[in-house]
Amino acid sequence: MISEEEACSKILKTIQPLPARRVSLLSALGCFAAEDYFARQPLPNFDNSAMDGYAVVASSGRTGERLRLIGEQPAGLDRQLRISPGEAVRIFTGAPTPAGADAVVMQEDVTRDRDEIVLNVGVEPGEFIRKRGCDLSEGQKILSAGERIRAATLALLAAQGFSDLAVGAEVSIAIVSTGNELVSVGDELRQGQVYESNSALLQALLKRCGAMLKSAEHSRDDRESLIETIERGLKNHVLIITGGVSVGEHDLVQLALRSLGAKIDIWRVAIKPGKPFLFGRAGGCAVFGLPGNPVSAFVTFLQFVRPAILKMMGAADLDLPKVPARLIADITNDGDRPHYVRGKLEGGKFTPVGRQESHALFGLSQSNALLRVAVGESLKAGEIVDVQIWD
Ligand code: AMP
Ligand code: MG
Repeated sequence: MISEEEACSKILKTIQPLPARRVSLLSALGCFAAEDYFARQPLPNFDNSAMDGYAVVASSGRTGERLRLIGEQPAGLDRQLRISPGEAVRIFTGAPTPAGADAVVMQEDVTRDRDEIVLNVGVEPGEFIRKRGCDLSEGQKILSAGERIRAATLALLAAQGFSDLAVGAEVSIAIVSTGNELVSVGDELRQGQVYESNSALLQALLKRCGAMLKSAEHSRDDRESLIETIERGLKNHVLIITGGVSVGEHDLVQLALRSLGAKIDIWRVAIKPGKPFLFGRAGGCAVFGLPGNPVSAFVTFLQFVRPAILKMMGAADLDLPKVPARLIADITNDGDRPHYVRGKLEGGKFTPVGRQESHALFGLSQSNALLRVAVGESLKAGEIVDVQIWD
């Protein structure tokens, strides 16, 4: 049995980012940038009005002042207007400010009198003008390699005229669930059987990573059907197998993998839940064997599989987000493996929820965060702890 840290570092040493690709802007949502991106132009790109109103010279902008209208500046076409003190230009939001103007008065603050306006307020220099480059300078970094492209990142790239960009690869994934006792959702459940739920769990978690699910198959616990199903799964970048990696007579996954020429790098890790976890390689495919118990599959996916997939996709940050929280109950780990306690993070407080056993799916479903309690660690209610957010 190796430590969790050893397992993680061994996996991440083996796994490398896949080659990058170019995609259109919208297809990049959720992907990771494959290179740094820099601003092609300042934002805004020219001084412009923040309001519908009148461009003026602030020095002639006292309350009660009467200004002569000399033109109109709409958004979209720069009419190259110029004003002097005592004059005003009708202007609209986003329109370039005329030369000589150093402020805009909102239309609500003036009284229009044919080709003149009367100011109902005093005007300060710079008011309601969005200066060129005040948001972003030309050449400034707007996106780092390895950063996830989110909705606002897409908008910024569009505002900079990028129509496509280089992003990390799509990672193809196969899931194989194993177990004679399992029945597909929708089929009749007989005495002693259970519904197969790990595929649903893993597919949902994979979706969150942005990985591409190619297939989800089930195999009975017999050598031939395991070999056949696993062989199909190995055609992908990643194969995730659940169940059958423990030490029982029906746990034949290792056997099947070896007979397909796979190299098993890791089997059994000091982690609770999830001890029988397996990692290996077969050709270009990374193989993860997760224990069948739902909570074990869940925890080992998040701690070992998720970071590996993100690394393949070109992500820089492979960790689950962590936040400090006030612990609501005493927790002691007097076992021999670090324990991932499932809990609810709400209003800055972390409360362990449900049964903390590896089969307890309802408890897991009530949680949104995990607290790692190290071997021998004793945490007291009221303490501030770092918890991993998984939802
Ligand atoms: P195993 O790791 O194959 O020994 O399975 C451990 C426990 O997890 C057993 O109680 C199985 O019935 C259960 N289990 C295994 N695979 C699944 C699955 N895909 N969906 C739900 N439960 C499962
Ligand atoms: Mg089994």
